[in-house]
Amino acid sequence: MEEPRAIIDAMNEQYDAIIVGAGPGGSATACSLVARGFRVLMVDKETFPREKICGDGIAPRAVHSLYHLGLREELAGRFKRTAGIRFYATHGGLTEVRYPMGSHFPDHGYVVPRRELDAILLARAEALGAEVMQGCRVTGLLPEKGGRIPGVVAECGGEAMELAGRFIIGADGPSSLVGKEMGLLSDNPLYMGVSVRCYMSGVKGVSDFLEIYPEDAITPSCGWIFPVDEKTANVGVGFMLYAREKRKINLNRVFDDFAQRTRHAAAKLREAKPLCKLRGAMLRVGMGGATSRRANVLLVGDAASLTNPISGEGITYALESGRWAGETVAAALHGGDDSLLDIYPRILEWKYRRYFYLGTLAIRYFNNPYTVNPLLFTTSRIPRLGDKMGRFLMNCRRSDYPQ
Ligand SMILES: Cc1cc2nc3c(=O)[nH]c(=O)nc-3n(C[C@H](O)[C@H](O)[C@H](O)COP(=O)(O)OP(=O)(O)OC[C@H]3O[C@@H](n4cnc5c(N)ncnc54)[C@H](O)[C@@H]3O)c2cc1C
Repeated sequence: MEEPRAIIDAMNEQYDAIIVGAGPGGSATACSLVARGFRVLMVDKETFPREKICGDGIAPRAVHSLYHLGLREELAGRFKRTAGIRFYATHGGLTEVRYPMGSHFPDHGYVVPRRELDAILLARAEALGAEVMQGCRVTGLLPEKGGRIPGVVAECGGEAMELAGRFIIGADGPSSLVGKEMGLLSDNPLYMGVSVRCYMSGVKGVSDFLEIYPEDAITPSCGWIFPVDEKTANVGVGFMLYAREKRKINLNRVFDDFAQRTRHAAAKLREAKPLCKLRGAMLRVGMGGATSRRANVLLVGDAASLTNPISGEGITYALESGRWAGETVAAALHGGDDSLLDIYPRILEWKYRRYFYLGTLAIRYFNNPYTVNPLLFTTSRIPRLGDKMGRFLMNCRRSDYPQ
């Protein structure tokens, strides 16, 4: 790499925090910090609005966080509002779970294409005062000095530059460069998933529900049809990496099976037309092996392996961890004491560890037709059990009060 030309390291140009990645995790962290008066720089390799491969499903718990960021008006009336989740088992019938499933979170979710959601979140962070560098790829961290990482190296418009920050936040997704450079990522396939999705038009019977299809023809994968608008749906399949390694699963073939050979989904998808290429991405789930803090560096969202291992839902956790990371860094900046950062991994442990552990076990041992069909047969007939299952899947316990 060529020598850095621009060097921003004078004390008065040192940022309080540099956030690598401007997805939901990065923007939530930035909002939390700038709202407390700190100087924040966000750096993203893409230029927004940009595509992000995702199911686009926003769960009530994520809606709560988005409203907390002041985005109620931005979402209401503009994007598809969802009333709950429908689970279709091949031999188990249909289980319909309506939000808020007996929890204290909002009674609705949304489906918002990530191209739009992430741009809205970034605009919010910018409006609050975050500085943003788009189209700049972070290529490395500056060498450790006195137990701290003094900043990052980024490539912007063909120029390499060093950016100095007192704290560094890795919000750079599942392939996190920050996490890798700090030795914080684990590649244990038990905690890694992979999914593909595309937008389709002409899907029959697009509803106001997120539709999940754990159908026999695609086991151990699970498929989804999420309504984007009256005519378009986000359609995809995903599974855990260890399942693929064991059975040599081909994702594109699974998607074709989902659209052609399943009992319930195929009836809706057979005539549908893809609006884009089928594209895939990795997920890091269940806090698997990842560590969220070293020195003055914190990881949030997917970089910290914070996707729900059962539902594959990660926006909730990116938003929540971003907020807590911001609050923790703010405390460390106020107190001039880095050891306060220890609070952040403890919050994650306290909030998520037990649930993620149970979720990882559940998806490993119970994700098969012998369990899923009888379970969904039962929940389809006993709505109270359906609510309980919904709360478990979405990690919305009755005792979880929105904060
Ligand atoms: C197919 C699929 C479907 C999914 N469906 C859902 C769903 O329906 N609902 C849900 O809640 N979750 C879903 N998820 C999970 C969800 O997408 C993630 O959990 C969420 O995007 C995590 O947000 P983040 O901010 O941590 O990371 P990201 O959204 O991945 O953002 C990371 C950002 O960092 C930037 N970046 C990366 N490297 C660098 C670098 N070196 N320099 C500068 N910038 C960099 C990227 O450009 C990106 O903008 C799905 C995931 C997949 C793969």
